[in-house]
Amino acid sequence: MNTLISTKLFKEAQQYIPGGVNSPVRAFKAVGGNPIFIQRGEGSKFYDVDGNEFIDYIGSWGPHLFGHNPPFIKKALLKAVEDGTSFGAPTKLEVEIAKLITELVPSVEMVRMVNSGTEATMSAVRAARGFTGKEKFIKFEGCYHGHADYFLIKAGSGALTFGVPTSPGVTKGNAADTLIADYNDIDSVKNIIHQNNDEIAAVIIEPIAGNMGVVPAEKNFLEELRNICSEEKIVLIFDEVMTGFRVAKGGAQELYGIKPDLSTFGKIIGGGLPVGAFGGKKEIMEIIAPNGPVYQAGTLSGNPLAMAAGYAALTYIKDHPDVYNILEEKSAYLENGIREALTDVKKNYALNRVGSMMTLFFTEGEVNSFKSAVKSDTILYGKFYSEMLKHGIYLAPAQFEAVFVSTVHSKVDLDKTASACVEALRFVRDKKNYKNIF
Ligand SMILES: *Cc1c(COP(=O)(O)O)cnc(C)c1O
Repeated sequence: MNTLISTKLFKEAQQYIPGGVNSPVRAFKAVGGNPIFIQRGEGSKFYDVDGNEFIDYIGSWGPHLFGHNPPFIKKALLKAVEDGTSFGAPTKLEVEIAKLITELVPSVEMVRMVNSGTEATMSAVRAARGFTGKEKFIKFEGCYHGHADYFLIKAGSGALTFGVPTSPGVTKGNAADTLIADYNDIDSVKNIIHQNNDEIAAVIIEPIAGNMGVVPAEKNFLEELRNICSEEKIVLIFDEVMTGFRVAKGGAQELYGIKPDLSTFGKIIGGGLPVGAFGGKKEIMEIIAPNGPVYQAGTLSGNPLAMAAGYAALTYIKDHPDVYNILEEKSAYLENGIREALTDVKKNYALNRVGSMMTLFFTEGEVNSFKSAVKSDTILYGKFYSEMLKHGIYLAPAQFEAVFVSTVHSKVDLDKTASACVEALRFVRDKKNYKNIF
């Protein structure tokens, strides 16, 4: 694979941008080698600056449910550009997208648009604190909720990959209000609540974790969490930035049949533009300014281009209920292909999948918690990753991430991916092939 131009660009990028990238995991540090610079995307594929073609399974880390540059989103964007890019005053489309979100996700009675998942989660926690008058909150080890200070305590995703789950730069004061529980372990939650009697504003959770790799919550666990939060008057926040409109039109909460008090969204909700949203019970959302005293604002929030792309994506979902059947069929097909590849090399690596999100963990035995996820052999994953890349398959360049199947991955794509998987796994099975790589 020729990567001359990417290599040159990366060298230059490192002079002007920290690590050469605008978000850490993109730098390929976790898998070795240099990042690929992308030129354009179309459907299930993207193309780099050296002219290589890749079947893409990160979909911009989640947003591209319909693949790259779907015609109906492109059309909506081009039309919106004609009218102007930003007004900082209300538009009709903001009302329509808010209505549509409340329709797709019934627990959301009111919603506010922001510009990223990070903004959504930090605003949701602020709303919960303002509403309850309490300061502490519970998060789970290995869950990632964006990069606000108080979330970077035992966080997942890039923070976990780079060995800084608790980031320098976060003050002790900030860290003190973040209480850490164990995913899928209700007793750890009960203990914390017991020890911090009447001081907890919120519990925030990825109802299907995607940022320690895919680790679904057990139904029982989420149900008990719901009950405890109701009993203790703690605001339950489902962070559905990844799972929202991904695993079902109503997100993970629809799959589990559990109603959180607040939900946060991002990724798919923006149709590929920078959008986030938080919403939920009216009585909580009414506390947000200008109705209530909890301040939250944004110069570009509800931006007309972003709303046009997001509205096109959500309207498509509403009008095509079969989207999730298609995703399930394609993803199950790919899962089978990968399982066959594993059989071929006589490995029993954990493959977790919920709908179109999945992770192949390089560890044998079940992965149902943070502790079992981090048993994975990340060096081996890195080697596997590089092999897949050589075969034109672009996976997440780190073990503790999800890969995503889109509605436009074809049978040919999925077959190619499965056979690349056979070859990559055979290659890494021979330890001599990766011993001296790092
Ligand atoms: C991606 C993600 C975020 C952060 O969203 P950004 O748009 O990157 O700020 C928060 N929570 C979850 C669950 C995510 O997957």
